[in-house]
Amino acid sequence: LILLGSTGSIGLNTLAIAERYAIDIELLSAGKNVEVLNGQIARFKPKYVAISDKRLKSKINHTRIFCGEEELLEAIALCKSETVVNAIVGFAGLRSTIRSLELGKKVALANKESLVVAGAFIDTTQITPIDSEHFALSYLVQDKPIKKMSITASGGSFRDYPLEKLGDVTVKEALNHPNWSMGSKITIDSATMTNKLFELLEAKWLFPKVQHFDAFIETQSIMHAVIDFVDGSSTTHLAGADMKLPIAYAIKDAVEEPILPPVDLVALGSLEFRAICEDRYPIWAIKEHILEHPHLGVVVNAANEVAVAQFLDGKIGFLDIGERVLETYDRYRDVKVVSLEDVFALDEEIRKSF
Ligand code: NAD
Ligand code: MG
Repeated sequence: LILLGSTGSIGLNTLAIAERYAIDIELLSAGKNVEVLNGQIARFKPKYVAISDKRLKSKINHTRIFCGEEELLEAIALCKSETVVNAIVGFAGLRSTIRSLELGKKVALANKESLVVAGAFIDTTQITPIDSEHFALSYLVQDKPIKKMSITASGGSFRDYPLEKLGDVTVKEALNHPNWSMGSKITIDSATMTNKLFELLEAKWLFPKVQHFDAFIETQSIMHAVIDFVDGSSTTHLAGADMKLPIAYAIKDAVEEPILPPVDLVALGSLEFRAICEDRYPIWAIKEHILEHPHLGVVVNAANEVAVAQFLDGKIGFLDIGERVLETYDRYRDVKVVSLEDVFALDEEIRKSF
């Protein structure tokens, strides 16, 4: 296995599953967390190691170290492994997805941003999503006419917070997700509901024959997706809020052993569902438009990555994130994106405009 983003939340869960099934790790790659990476090197003994921050090379305990994005792509090409888990966060993961697919490798994709920004130019037949909702949809899908696919949202850190106080929340409060323990960027994206918008785009590329996609809030993150079939039946997928299940399916051909304990519905008592409202989640205003114009994913993603980083740095407020993304969306509403080159150029242009 090739594991990109090994020191993050998905990376750690992937190593736990790899260890359980004695799957060899050929390449470990991380951004800059040297301490965790060195621990993983000692434990998993990968053939190659990659780090994105070149200044950290001398601190890594390994003899085959690749630094920066270009060298990471070279390292992937050197590997014999057929499967790449891409758990890098953000646009930074796109080139690895593209190169891995070009090399004929299967991609177990946690880096949803790859599909959000460039879904039109990516062959999704070689991709297995590491996202609980898309895993759930794949689990449910049958060869029957589908009316609609729905995915659920937790509602994020502020789903029960007074609306009038949302302008003053702290970074610490925003990072306190009610159900999942994840990296900071996706935790903020959950609080703004941008994560669910991204997942709708992800679903659109992964299930290209389906016409209708939607999302709603299920506050416990036990129900991950629903498929409404044309015949009037609906099926749903229930599982604990733990990424090990999607990861196990993404890196193993067959999963027959228990990965999680089953959901105890009687102990739960009930589930609570809510609609996603634009007053709490302003980004939801563009949902229909972006699903019809999915090439605009790169616009939302670039603006969002910059704004989320600024929020995490304490430079802007929580509500400014959505405002900046929507402003940028309006400015680029009519932009054309007809190639991968356009995706990279537009991403760069939008970042510079901030
Ligand atoms: P994280 O922040 O915990 O980990 C990110 C990893 O990427 C780290 O190993 C980091 O070192 C590495 N990285 C960061 N910048 C890099 C760069 N420029 N080049 C190379 N590596 C870099 O994030 P996470 O929560 O593990 O999420 C990773 C991806 O998976 C995201 O795209 C996220 O949306 C997606 N995802 C996460 C979850 C989850 O439960 N955490 C669920 C579904 C999807
Ligand atoms: Mg998800």
